[in-house]
Amino acid sequence: MSTAPVIHLRHSSTVLPVVGSEQRVPTLLGEWLDVANFDHGASTPALLAVADAVERASTTYSSVHRGKGWNSRVSSALYEAARAEVATFVGAREDDEVIFTRNTTDSFNLLARALPRDTTVIVFETEHHATLLPWPARNTVRLPVPASVADAEALLRTGLKETAHLRGPRLVILNGASNVTGEYWPLDRLVPIARRAGARIALDAAQLAPHAPLDLAALDVDWIAFSGHKLYAPYGAGVLAGRRDWLDKAAPYLSGGGATATVTTQGTTWQTGPARHEAGSPNVLGAIALAAACATLREHRRLVTHREEDLTERLVEGLRAIDGVETFSIFGEDHDRAPVVSFVIDGLEPGLVSAALSAEHAIAVRDGKFCAHLLVDALLEDAGVEARSAVRVSAGLANTDEHIERLLNAVESLATRGP
Ligand code: PLP
Repeated sequence: MSTAPVIHLRHSSTVLPVVGSEQRVPTLLGEWLDVANFDHGASTPALLAVADAVERASTTYSSVHRGKGWNSRVSSALYEAARAEVATFVGAREDDEVIFTRNTTDSFNLLARALPRDTTVIVFETEHHATLLPWPARNTVRLPVPASVADAEALLRTGLKETAHLRGPRLVILNGASNVTGEYWPLDRLVPIARRAGARIALDAAQLAPHAPLDLAALDVDWIAFSGHKLYAPYGAGVLAGRRDWLDKAAPYLSGGGATATVTTQGTTWQTGPARHEAGSPNVLGAIALAAACATLREHRRLVTHREEDLTERLVEGLRAIDGVETFSIFGEDHDRAPVVSFVIDGLEPGLVSAALSAEHAIAVRDGKFCAHLLVDALLEDAGVEARSAVRVSAGLANTDEHIERLLNAVESLATRGP
């Protein structure tokens, strides 16, 4: 039996070091184990490079763009350097801007407020609530959960056709990777359909950014949004990047200092550019952390991709091979995906599975509907299973090979044990 737990930073055995702990926790089965974190889809641990960047920046900082004083100049330089790195990370075009937000949810709410009044939004019901819900209901067309890539194309075509007569612009919301099934959305098939119909496109890259390179021009989308805390940076910073035309014309997302151009007794005028929507003292350290994650992932993308492909294959094949385990997919079993899999075990309530994995094996997963209720309900109904929620495993840089083996063995033992 181990002695008292030791907590310290470790260089994990994976391709890029993340901040973690070697704390061993006692399990109900009498072992002391490090926690196998299979909850990267919710939030990732910070990369060590990110923690270092935050520590360096923590010595001198103040609010940005507040005069010529030393602290503000240092912070402004770091904040704008962070913006420039994010612009590179997303392949920003000349007419694009990068706005720092709190997270993906905040980014899409900002975009929703910036839409011209007569905009029609077209969105699949597969979406995370962050991208399903911010739009005004009377101007939103929801497309059902598709059964295949061809079905998704047909549904989008129909949605565009049925809205073609409406005055005003149309905005299609697409997802890069599903937070439920991990599947990459067929953007190369859907984007051209939206474009041919003259629609604008906003891409939810919350689950895509950690796993694949982003490029606004190559993807041919107008806006992209993602969160730092899913990209190996801490909470509190996100990004909305893309076309500035609607954003410059919209009322400021927040009113206050930093967003103003002039304030007189006669009235207020507002900045254009990112400052228009970033009123108040910004999350400077969050932006620096997020940019450090972008830079590190950009530099090591090939290594990360290689590792993740291996994790994905082992997870998906391993789980599918277990009797009594049902995994879910929107586009079909062979569709490409990130290392994210949702499943149910015959006869076992997903909350119980999650609790047992945690208590007996020190494995952290998520259970529930993952803020994508319509999609999870549809997948469960389609599979004809009794469960009303699912278990999600989402792997990433904090996982070792031993974690994968432990997870698969644990799921198999639960499936064998049964209800
Ligand atoms: N979109 C997807 C696909 C997500 O997985 C999430 C979070 O789980 C979000 C949007 C919302 O991200 P946040 O909670 O950081 O705003």
